[in-house]
Amino acid sequence: MSGETILIVEDEESIQELIRVNLVREGYRTELASRGEDALKAAKASMPDAVLLDLMLPGLDGLEVCRIMKADPVLRSIPVVMVTAKGEESDIVAGLELGADDYITKPFSAKVLLARVRAVLRRGRQKQDEGAAIKSHDIVIHPGRHEVTIAGSPVELTLTEFKILQFLAGRPGWVFTRYQIVDAVRGEEYAVTERSVDVQIVGLRKKLGAAGRYIETVRGVGYRFME
Ligand code: CA
Repeated sequence: MSGETILIVEDEESIQELIRVNLVREGYRTELASRGEDALKAAKASMPDAVLLDLMLPGLDGLEVCRIMKADPVLRSIPVVMVTAKGEESDIVAGLELGADDYITKPFSAKVLLARVRAVLRRGRQKQDEGAAIKSHDIVIHPGRHEVTIAGSPVELTLTEFKILQFLAGRPGWVFTRYQIVDAVRGEEYAVTERSVDVQIVGLRKKLGAAGRYIETVRGVGYRFME
């Protein structure tokens, strides 16, 4: 029993109840809000460990709630998982760029819901050590030395490819939009554009060989390094 508090922001009562029951069964405490304004009040009052945020809300919508939370010096540290309907890729992209931490698409199973919640809570606890080597699957990335090895063998990457790999692999399981990737690597060799990210990823995957599959394309949204 973890006792962590999850704020559920959802205006459809049946979905709100379904999420609540599943979280309570796992030992989480829950707070409920069905309007954006109430979600912000509840977040400030109870400082939950994570927020499950439906995007289609009456009044202030989910994206606005996310924007306000991520611009707030106190609330910004609370992980936000957007809850979206299928086909809302543009909202997902907008939400990620506003600082949302992950998303889940309706309809979802209890298993997927709990996995996402556990993942954001775990990430929230992890502290990033920027200088440390990143080890994921059989890839080791040495930030200081700009070196990458796969199963012990060095791989030659351009600086931009290296930066993209470091950025994605440093946060496995997180989905990043092309803009977020550009923002993370910009200004190193030349101006990276959103479109050129796709080209860089193609080149990067080719150089990584079989390990290239760890970089997953998230259709309509961006890229993710396999957890
Ligand atoms: Ca809704």
